[in-house]
Amino acid sequence: MAPEKPSDFIREIITGDLETNKYEGRVHTRFPPEPNGYLHIGHAKSICLNFGIAGEFGGLCNLRFDDTNPTKEEVEYVESIKEDVRWLGFDWGDRLFYASDYFAQLYRFAVELIQKGKAYVCDLTADQIREYRGTLTTPGKESPYRNRPVEENLDLFARMKAGEFPDGSRTLRAKVDMASGNINMRDPVMYRILHAEHHRTGDQWCIYPMYDWAHGQCDSIECITHSICTLEFEDHRPLYDWFLDELRAYHPRQIEFARLNLSHTVLSKRKLIQLVREGHVRGWDDPRMPTISGFRRRGYTPEAIRNFCDRIGVAKRDSVVDIALLEHCLREDLNRRAPRVMAVLRPLRVIIDNYPEGVVEELEATNNPEDPGMGTRKVPFSRVLYIEREDFRETPPKEFYRLAPGREVRLRYAYFITCTGAVRDEKTGEVVELRCTYDPATRGGDSPDGRKVKATLHWVSAPHALQAEVRLYDHLFVKEDPGAMGEGEDFKSSLNPKSIETLTSCFVEPGLKAAAAGSRHQFERQGYFCVDPDSSGETLVFNRTVTLRDTWAKIEKAQKR
Ligand code: ATP
Ligand code: MG
Repeated sequence: MAPEKPSDFIREIITGDLETNKYEGRVHTRFPPEPNGYLHIGHAKSICLNFGIAGEFGGLCNLRFDDTNPTKEEVEYVESIKEDVRWLGFDWGDRLFYASDYFAQLYRFAVELIQKGKAYVCDLTADQIREYRGTLTTPGKESPYRNRPVEENLDLFARMKAGEFPDGSRTLRAKVDMASGNINMRDPVMYRILHAEHHRTGDQWCIYPMYDWAHGQCDSIECITHSICTLEFEDHRPLYDWFLDELRAYHPRQIEFARLNLSHTVLSKRKLIQLVREGHVRGWDDPRMPTISGFRRRGYTPEAIRNFCDRIGVAKRDSVVDIALLEHCLREDLNRRAPRVMAVLRPLRVIIDNYPEGVVEELEATNNPEDPGMGTRKVPFSRVLYIEREDFRETPPKEFYRLAPGREVRLRYAYFITCTGAVRDEKTGEVVELRCTYDPATRGGDSPDGRKVKATLHWVSAPHALQAEVRLYDHLFVKEDPGAMGEGEDFKSSLNPKSIETLTSCFVEPGLKAAAAGSRHQFERQGYFCVDPDSSGETLVFNRTVTLRDTWAKIEKAQKR
């Protein structure tokens, strides 16, 4: 079956395997998160790849939790991961698995290796094991316990499982090669003793498999055909091969690709968890977080994220993708689907002196010029309005075409107005109100005499507008690649102190009263905004999803030139 998507080296490998009938024509992938945090946009890349490939090739994709580390894993994370995968638009059907489902099988595999003389119980401490392991330039040293008789190993391993020994006192290690140039092959630890409650198996186990021991065997047990993983596992592949060869087990094909890095943020659960725990953000789903739940709350669409993942493609070399590309994908999607509304973020009162008091007109406004099918709505107009403070200048600089004393502009969908004066606060001298007149002949925003104005402003009717809180977001980190900071530096020193700005006295069109949490709107001239679940009946809260200014389109244009 030919894939619809543009090909890449992974899809080419799979196409080749199908041609040679390597796995009897099967394509079976998996997404294997560890439930020790919320998923981030890097995981989205892996999800789109694994579920995407399965879909394109008529195959299957499992969701498997790699839950081998009970001290760091929680049910909350399991639930959030399931929600996020579903929200992205993927379905694992009845193939939800856990590495812990296979603990008994993994134990039997380990016993098999001991029986073959390929694994041993080691009494070295963690520090000693590290010391004996050697370095990239020096070979390792064999453990004094390496040549324990099989019977003794079987007995000790059974007693490790039975809980006879304290945490950290013994390990089970693979007997591979302490002189190997690949450090992963120097008798890696397969099991450690850990008397810890597991979120699924409770206190049934007090020995837990290490990731490197569990991972390949889980893929094998599930008969995965293509184990797609990130580059750092390339050096582990010989070990995974060794285990499966020694066990004479079914052998998936591992393919590595470069992980996603995104500019101005970090993609590592270890770092993200610090931001949450230390209160640098409001939670895993803070709209500034690069987590899937953060993007969702911010107003991103699954379509935009999937499109982004397709566009960045897969490669063999690490790079940092400009977050402007993700925002570009989002704008493309929201431009098509988000209804337009008018909202004033920093209000300035305007009185239309020649407009009759007590009169309200319902003016017709277009919901989306990109999609006439989205229809029109009525917006109330009255004598007192709010416009954006920055749309007025008392002494306008050159190239400022918006409102100024004596100048005429268009109010979108309404009338031409002319500014006749500005009222100041006596104490502060700040302009607090504008006096204007309107031209009744320009209803709808067109002048019958062909008179031109250079600016069109958005506005709301003061007595009708709803008060709203609007949260404006900027990059979470100032540095372009905070994840690449040196060991001695704290990545948090690059946090952007201005990553959020909260405006509490904004005004939006009354039609937004019933806007549901999560609904997305374009505030004309301002950007895309999404209703936050913090909204109450009294006050709507909006997150700015993204501004209208497309920096990526500019970058692309410059590159083509
Ligand atoms: P982190 O470093 O953020 O903790 P991880 O790799 O430890 O990530 P896992 O839960 O083990 O997190 O990841 C599940 C899957 O997602 C793995 O197959 C992993 O390769 C993939 N993945 C994780 N981060 C990225 C990324 N930045 N880009 C692409 N794939 C990723
Ligand atoms: Mg991991």
